[in-house]
Amino acid sequence: MRDADVQWLEGELARLKEEGLYTSIRTIESPIDAWVVIEGRRVLNFCSNNYLGLANHPRLRRAAQEAIDRYGVGPAAVRTIAGTLSLHVELERRLAEFKRAEACITFQSGFKANLATIPALMGRGDVIFSDALNHASIIDACRLSRATVVRYDHIDMADLRRKLAEHAQEAGRKLIVTDGVFSMDGDIAPLPEIVALAQEFGCITLVDDAHGEGVLGEGGRGIVDHFHLHGQVDIEVGTMSKAFGVVGGMVCGKAIVVEWLRQRARPFLFSSAMTVPDVAACIEATRILQESQERVERLWANARSFRAEMQRLGFDTGQSQTPIVPVMLGSAPLAQEFSRRLFQEGVFAQAIGYPTVPRGQARIRVMNSAAHSQEDLEFGLAAFAKVGRALGVIH
Ligand SMILES: *Cc1c(COP(=O)(O)O)cnc(C)c1O
Repeated sequence: MRDADVQWLEGELARLKEEGLYTSIRTIESPIDAWVVIEGRRVLNFCSNNYLGLANHPRLRRAAQEAIDRYGVGPAAVRTIAGTLSLHVELERRLAEFKRAEACITFQSGFKANLATIPALMGRGDVIFSDALNHASIIDACRLSRATVVRYDHIDMADLRRKLAEHAQEAGRKLIVTDGVFSMDGDIAPLPEIVALAQEFGCITLVDDAHGEGVLGEGGRGIVDHFHLHGQVDIEVGTMSKAFGVVGGMVCGKAIVVEWLRQRARPFLFSSAMTVPDVAACIEATRILQESQERVERLWANARSFRAEMQRLGFDTGQSQTPIVPVMLGSAPLAQEFSRRLFQEGVFAQAIGYPTVPRGQARIRVMNSAAHSQEDLEFGLAAFAKVGRALGVIH
């Protein structure tokens, strides 16, 4: 490769900067908690997916340390050859119990859980019906599967029905796939309607509950529990990288599906297993969730009060029904300027623009957490009010 061969990237990067779409990556110099240290300054953390404050929990830290003493750090193999430790088996057993599912298989991340699952079930000649705002990992997994992908309008059940009917005569397998909680807007998929349509049209259902895991349902058991749809959703994809505070992916569902994924899911067969400290910390996170609902309740109380106050100040907080609070700003440069000024006020909340959200819908997405105290929320609200007025977003 000569320098000239990558010259075009200079133009592309300059264009991102002009359009306010260039991401400046902040480096965090402390554990992930309610407050973090960035550039030597302590700032209020409003953008980690640390819903339950588990990322730096003493019990998870201790579990990881003890597991390292016993098992070392890495599995040094894929799960199907020599990478399955008793820890992996315990985590999967515990997760299935917690989620009230028949069976569970874990992956290295939520992203990989989708890449593992969708292509293992669907192929050429099959049809996947996919919500227009589904996560990038679902979009990529659908492409990898080589199935025909039919996008339906976001949570629009009439549009989904129309598209299911159009393809009703085709011979291949059919799958309806949706995010459970939409990560950038915080709204919830109408899962009971999706399940009913799937039954009517003979489709498999897959819900990716990355933002519902540890958040929705009784004690954080997720969207299937939230809607009391146990046994009716075929595949529930989840992550341990958000509310669980660690990293890892999971698929819960029928035992036969999990059994098939153990045989054919490519990231399970061809990418090394989750590491020892991650698995041990995830087991401890599941234990904490099984013991008490207190963190989940605190998360929701914080989210309700923060959202209500933001609306009272005059901010547009979109359609969210969950602890994700998008602060809609529209223009990407405005969102970036807003984020910079919040940072000056001691609040870390990143701007989000295209391609993570559609063009013209840039925003700051506030992630509420059980780790925030009432004083933290008040501090954050004061910063939003000050910057919002200075930039003419509120009056
Ligand atoms: C975050 C997210 C993922 C990716 O999970 P990781 O464990 O971080 O790889 C997948 N799907 C959805 C809907 C997400 O929000």
